Formats: sequence, structure tokens, C-alpha cells
Amino acid sequence: MTFQGGGPLDTSSVSGGGGGGGGMGRIALGGGAGLILTIVALLFGINPGSITGGTGTGSGVSSQDAAELDAHIRSCTIEKANTDDVCRIVATVNSVNKVWSEQMPGYTEPKTTIFSGSVSTGCGAASSATGPFYCPADETAYFDPSFFATLRQMGGSDGPLAQEYVVAHEYGHHVENLTGVLAKGQRMGSQGPMSGSVRIELQADCLAGVWAYHADKGPDAMLEPLTQEQIDSVIQTAKAIGDDTIQGAGSNPEGWTHGSAQQRSRWFTIGYESGDQRQCDTFATNDL
Ligand SMILES: [Zn+2]
Repeated sequence: MTFQGGGPLDTSSVSGGGGGGGGMGRIALGGGAGLILTIVALLFGINPGSITGGTGTGSGVSSQDAAELDAHIRSCTIEKANTDDVCRIVATVNSVNKVWSEQMPGYTEPKTTIFSGSVSTGCGAASSATGPFYCPADETAYFDPSFFATLRQMGGSDGPLAQEYVVAHEYGHHVENLTGVLAKGQRMGSQGPMSGSVRIELQADCLAGVWAYHADKGPDAMLEPLTQEQIDSVIQTAKAIGDDTIQGAGSNPEGWTHGSAQQRSRWFTIGYESGDQRQCDTFATNDL
């Protein structure tokens, strides 16, 4: 249990999407000429071979499943967020928006789509295989709750704060979009230990840590005081999704897109211990 209190959640920025099984989705650039921002996912860099021009169209989208998810979202309360993965995403969205509205002048809320199977986005069509991601073209974070089981299989934690970290990481990409860091980073290369991609991802981990620092503080904090065990569950998860962990023995840093296990856990910790987004400037150092 992480959320305290009870009552309704603000579901106005969250909607259900997708549906159907669907094969591999294709991630397309948004249609406009000159638009260079592509999605940023939790796990993998986007293989350039899977990027096509033009706006993608969703396939296998079942409106019924989207409608069911939408009804589920509308039913969410703070109490349900402690037992229900969909409602935990919704409650985390509430908490992350609250923290960034307080921490960042000019913060504007993104949208969130909770989907199953495949989904059509402003960045093209995507599937659950992509994992959680943020699309800057439509300023929307996308989550398939089935990912949490995948995360557990990968060695991540299924603890509530570990799931909330995943949401806060994608919202970190939204903060980066607002500050211009996302565009800057995407011009600085998509692979390699000092690439823009790695810097973007480690900053998102740090910003997730900044959220965690603030989420349990203040008289109207949504989270109960975090425990060391919960923080450890995030560290475990950050390590499980490090490039070197995923790639295994022989992992070549030249292929990294998100940073190593050590780096991902380190930058989350920098954000969590400081609570200060200025400490998250992964572009100002080569000591990542
Ligand atoms: Zn990411």
C-alpha cells in the first residue's frame, strides 16, 4: 500500500485505448515535415528500421476493449489504487501532476492512455511490445498494464512504488519535452554511452526520483511515507532495465540507449535524495 486517504481520483487526462492482440506495432514519426521527436520508451531504443515517415494508423484496435478500459479508469478511487494496477497508474498520474505543478513553473499536464494490445498514437501505431512510452507529438504517455508482469519476469519488482516509478519515468520525458531537453537530446545521437538517448533516459530516471522525494511530503501528500523497502524495489527495477542487464554478458556500451543498471539506479537516487530537478542535468557531465 502506498496511497493514503481515500476518495475519487481526477481521471480527466486519462483514457482507455487500444485493444485486440495485434502483432508488432510500427512506430512512425508524426506526419509534419521537420518533426524530429520520436517516442521515448522505458526499455529499448527505437530501431531506426521500424521508423517510417507519415502518420501511422492503428491496426487491430478494438473500441470495445478501449471502452472497457475507459470505464475501469472512471471507476478508480484512491482506495482501489492500492490493489488495482490500472487505478495505480491513474493515482500516480494524479500525484506526478501535483508534484510537477508545484515544482516547475509553467508545467502543463500531459495526457495518459492506458491500452491493451496495440494503440494508435500521434507518433504512429504501437504495440505492447514497445513497453511504456511517451509520445511528444501528442504529449501523451502510454501504458499497457500487462507490462508490469513482463517487468517482474525481467527481474524487476512488482511492488507498488516500482510500478509508480515506471509512470513517473514517462512523465519525466514530458518534463524534458517542456524544457526542450528532449529535442536537444534526440539531436545528440540515439546510441552509445554518452549519447543523447542515454542522457535523456537517465534524466527521466532522476526526475522520477525527484517525484518520489516530494510525493510523500506535505499535508496533502498522496503517498504514505516511503519505506526503504519500497525505495529498494525501485532500485531493483531500475537495475533490471539497465542496458547491460537486458543485453547480458558481452553487452557493448556502444549499443546502449538507456544506460547501465548502475547508472539508472544512480540517477534515480540522485533525484530521490536531493528532490531537486537541477541535480538531474545529465547533459552537464560526462560522469554518468
Ligand atoms: Zn524512457
